Amino acid sequence: ADHQTKYFDRSSVPNPERSQWLPDGRVNAAFVSLARNEDLRDMVQSVQRLERRFNHKHHYPWVFLNDEEFNEEFMRRINETASGPVEFGVIPKEHWQMPETVDLQKMHDNWNKLKENDILYADSESYRHMCRFESGFFYRHPLVKKYEYYWRVEPSVDFWCDLDFDPFAYMKQNNKVYGFTITVTEYPETISTLWENTRNFLKQHPDTLHPNNSLNFISDNNGETYNNCHFWSNFEIARVDFWESDAYTKYFDHLDKSNGFFYERWGDAPVHSIAAALFTDRDSIHFFNEIGYWHPFSGHCPLDEPTLAKCECSPYDSIDHNGWSCLNKYYDAFKIPYPANWNLYRG
Ligand code: GDP
Ligand code: MN
Repeated sequence: ADHQTKYFDRSSVPNPERSQWLPDGRVNAAFVSLARNEDLRDMVQSVQRLERRFNHKHHYPWVFLNDEEFNEEFMRRINETASGPVEFGVIPKEHWQMPETVDLQKMHDNWNKLKENDILYADSESYRHMCRFESGFFYRHPLVKKYEYYWRVEPSVDFWCDLDFDPFAYMKQNNKVYGFTITVTEYPETISTLWENTRNFLKQHPDTLHPNNSLNFISDNNGETYNNCHFWSNFEIARVDFWESDAYTKYFDHLDKSNGFFYERWGDAPVHSIAAALFTDRDSIHFFNEIGYWHPFSGHCPLDEPTLAKCECSPYDSIDHNGWSCLNKYYDAFKIPYPANWNLYRG
């Protein structure tokens, strides 16, 4: 076993220059969106909503990535909508390409099985490139790499509450590594062997497991099986260097070598979440309750009255009390008290 690859130590800062506060008190951070030209309308919606709720007061930059060139209209409309500087980047081919080791026959047989089970994106190759890119490559893009923190924003999302604080600053001040608003269970059919591969990785690299990990959030039997709980990564505020760490780099390589992103349909959400639960301190994970958020077709709306007063949602809109949600498990695993009026809204 490899006892050299260590877990992620959030107090160590490999790139001090990148991690400095800006002179105006902001964090060296940006919104990062992966999108296609045809996502323009839905992307403008997301940018507009986030600008109105938060960024019109801060003017944080936006980064847009695409596996093809963005067209003029896309860049013009986004530039008109964003209040901060905008950069557009193309993804290198090597980061959006099927490895030669993929057995195509085996892959298509598996896709057909997923299709028979009505799994979303069962036979989509591009969706798999997207999941693999978001798992292992987005943070290597030069436009993203220069930031300390990023906030992932997808097309067609909405923000339900006025934010009177800076989530980036909160993350940095409190030494947080990974922030989320929604946690749900993954479709097990899409990740049949993800946990098996994760366990093998841990056997080979036992020192990547953080001594104060949150394995109890993602497993109900001390690691024997995965309970499918994950943070919904279409919203994500995180430290770029977590993904650059030795532990995560080795983990992604290990997963990628098995070609499970292609044979199955591993999402970046369970991959990121498992990594966050295993390789970093449980205290570095943060639930942004105040950020009311919608991505089709689920949302999070805060329950407590002072927070809710700044929102245009109802707690009944929340997935948090639904059987798919892992928020109750999160509260239990992290020993966080339930909100006072939790029982009021229980289905
Ligand atoms: P879902 O949220 O899982 O249903 O998947 P989405 O269709 O929203 O895709 C996730 C993210 O990846 C979004 O930001 C999309 O714009 C982006 N995306 C998905 N497929 C592609 C693709 O083929 N090319 C590019 N450039 N972006 C993609
Ligand atoms: Mn989406």
